[in-house]
Parts: sequence; structure tokens; C-alpha cells
Amino acid sequence: MPFSKLGLSQPLVSAINEMGYQAPTAIQEKAIPVVLEGHNLLAAAQTGTGKTASFLLPVMEMLSKGETKRKKRVRALVLAPTRELVAQVEKNAASYGKNLALTTLAMYGGKDSKEQKQRLIDGVDILVATPGRLLDMMTQRAVHFDELEMLVLDEADRMLDMGFIEDINKIIDRLPVDRQNLLFSATLSDKVRFLAKTAVPNPVEIAAESNSKTEIEQWLTTVDKDKKSSLLAHLITENAWDQALIFIETKHGAAKLVEQLGKRGITAESFHSGRSQPMREQLLEEFKSGQLQFLIATGVAARGIDIEELKRVVNYDLPFPADDYIHRIGRTGRAGAKGEAISFLSKDDFKNLCMIESRLGHLIERRDIEGFAPRKPVPISILNYVPKNKREGKPDSEKKAPRKEAKPSRSPESKGRGFKSDADKPRQSRDSQAKRRPQRSDKPKDQNRREDANPWGNLKPRSGNE
Ligand code: AMP
Repeated sequence: MPFSKLGLSQPLVSAINEMGYQAPTAIQEKAIPVVLEGHNLLAAAQTGTGKTASFLLPVMEMLSKGETKRKKRVRALVLAPTRELVAQVEKNAASYGKNLALTTLAMYGGKDSKEQKQRLIDGVDILVATPGRLLDMMTQRAVHFDELEMLVLDEADRMLDMGFIEDINKIIDRLPVDRQNLLFSATLSDKVRFLAKTAVPNPVEIAAESNSKTEIEQWLTTVDKDKKSSLLAHLITENAWDQALIFIETKHGAAKLVEQLGKRGITAESFHSGRSQPMREQLLEEFKSGQLQFLIATGVAARGIDIEELKRVVNYDLPFPADDYIHRIGRTGRAGAKGEAISFLSKDDFKNLCMIESRLGHLIERRDIEGFAPRKPVPISILNYVPKNKREGKPDSEKKAPRKEAKPSRSPESKGRGFKSDADKPRQSRDSQAKRRPQRSDKPKDQNRREDANPWGNLKPRSGNE
């Protein structure tokens, strides 16, 4: 079904078409008409399902019909748990609304509040905020909600897990009663339903159809760097793997690994920006047909490879940032098929692991492979890990967050799990890497640098729900 059939008008439809969205995802098909009809909505959907567009698009459609940007007034409020998510949602809103006159503002701690205050005085149609910073601004009377039309609680379960319930209630108390409310949550737990009772009265309830990502069995194994290639060869031969997409950081590393596997009798090919376009196309065809079993790709290929029945992805190097992990593992387990995502973890990867597992909201199962135990064990992650540079300069109440820190659970049930329960499901993410990834140059001379160039050239990136 095309987006226009869902009741969205041309400015939004052309903006999303330009972004490569060809058809709505399941959650979008369900949510958009309900919101456009003016109902309150309670939606079970995790990241990766296209949930952000499923609320932003109808919100923007509705707001675009009225008078935009009224001075000192906010017309729609989106509350989200983290500054990253706030930034992503606002970025999406700005892209979807490029043909509309709506104004958007991302509000979170660590950013100069003066500028945000001025923007609020000028008027903001859609304010996306973390509860902590928003409450600060409300206390300072910098934001007015008396003309608020719509409220969205995004990733409500995560906001509750982070201890934002009091802030959320305080905020809601100060909103006009006559408003439309949307709540999105990966799980509709009792806690979420309790919040929904007051925040989202009489909602239409929907759920994203079973997400293919839930079929991905993720596990990791700790290994010293110098043992990685032999571990990979061991896994391939011991488990008689017929195919794997193996992600590695650098072009040089990819070429070296092909050679190392070759010495062990395993044929593989490298796939990166250093290879010619016809060669890359040929490799992809061979890999898709099963003629080529092992493809060693630099991270950038995570965006382009769409193979119907890819059984297995290996993170030979753990990706950075955390969203890259999500995109990489998303290459497998597509369309309901079972998939496996294996990561090699070395001691230098600890912080990276913390960020990935915090992003997922749970620990990844660890498996020991006999003969490959590292000289020093890699500790269990700190969930809700905030890197040092992000901790500094948090000026407001968010500095105290996470309020109720989710402790890494070491219970046998929480360790070593696939995605048996809803709470275990991985959170998928949108294309925000470019924003958060540190800038890297793309000098082809340096074969050791992390591969970040687009090796796709004219190859079309996949257009699915990535
Ligand atoms: P979300 O679940 O909102 O985190 O979205 C995950 C990713 O899916 C983001 O990269 C979106 O840009 C992308 N996306 C959302 N809707 C669509 C769609 N209908 N078609 C293709 N990609 C989409």
C-alpha cells in the first residue's frame, strides 16, 4: 500500500519517497490512519519497525493543517528517554517535514539552554525532549503547553526503566487535558499499561507484527586479537558453516583475513571500497547464490547487503557506534527467517560492548569456545553505560540519570538468552551513524584505517526497513 493511501498528503509523501521509503511498514500501516482519525494510540513496537515515522508522519500531517509556529507555543510534544533518541527523532522530523513549514526542536541536557529558550519564544511546532531537561525548562517557565495538541511518549518502557515516571507525571499534569496521546513501547508491560491508563485514555491498541529481528540468535565469545582468525576458521569448520557475512574494520584487515582463511583451506573474498564496482557486484551475486560462502566486508556493507536467507553474521571486530551493531545483525534473520549473529570480543572492546548492550537493553549471551579463552577475561557490561565525554558537562537534572540504574543482571535467565521474551528483543535503530560516528577521512592510501567510504558506487542500497 502506498503512503498516500494512508491519508498522508503530498509534501510528506514526497519527502519520505526521497528518503527511499517505498511502502509503509506494518506498524506504519496500522498507526497512521488511527492517529489521523484523532484517536489515542497505544502501540507495541520496538525500534527497527519504523515506529518513529508511524507517529511523526501523522503528527506532522495533522499539525500541517493548522496554523504553524505560534509564538511561545508548542503544538506537539514527543518525550523520549535519551538524548540520542531525542536527536534522532528530531532529525527524522526535520527530514520528513522538509516540504512543510513546521518547526522542530530537540531538547536535552548538555546543550546550551539559552538557544533552546529563544527557539521556544519564537514558537516550536514539535518539541522532542528528554523528561529531565524538559522539566527543568518548565520549572523555569521557558516552555508553554497551553496550546498543546498532541503528546507522544516514545519508548515508554525505557523511560520507566530509567526512572522517569515522576518527571513524566509532572509534565503530563501540566498539559491541557484536551489533547491526543500516543504511546509507543517495545513491550506493553503492567508498568507501561499503568502509565497509559492516565496518559493515554481509551486508546486504540496496536502491535507491530512479529519483527524479523526477534529471530536473531545473538551471542559473543571473548578472544584475544591474535587468535581471532584461527577462532573464525575453527567455528567455520567445526560447525560446518555453509555461509557467513563477516564484518571487519579495515580493508587491510579484510585482505589479510582472506589470506589467513585461505591458508586453512577456507575460500573467502573481501568486499570493500578498494574493490572495483563490477567486482563488488559479482561478489555479491556469487554470495547471494551461495557460490561464495564467506564474504569479509567492511562495516559500510551493512547498509547495502540485503540477502533473503543470510543465516549468519560475524562481527570479527565489534562495531562502533552501537547502532552499527544493530544494522549489522539486521543483515540476518530477515523476513522471519532464523539468523545468528556472533561477535568476537577482545579486551579493548569493553566500552564498545557496554554501549552496544546498553543500546540493546540487555546482555548478549556469552559462549566459551574451548581453546580460545583470552589471557584476561573481559568483564560483564555496565548497562546504561554513558561514555565519559558524554557524562561531562551535563548541566541539569539529567546529570543524575540514570535515576534507577538498570543493573546488569547476572541471573542465569538474563544471561545467555536469545530473544525468547519481549523484553529480550533487540532494539533496532535508524540511520544515525553518520551523525554520531567520529569523522574519519577516506584516504585510500591508508589501508588500515576503518572502512567508512561508500563502496557501493552505483549499487542501490536496500530499500527495506533498515
Ligand atoms: P525506527 O523503528 O523508527 O527506529 O526506524 C528504523 C529505520 O527504518 C530507520 O532507519 C528509518 O529511517 C527506517 N524506516 C522507517 N520507515 C521506513 C519505511 N517505510 N521504509 C523504509 N525504511 C523505513
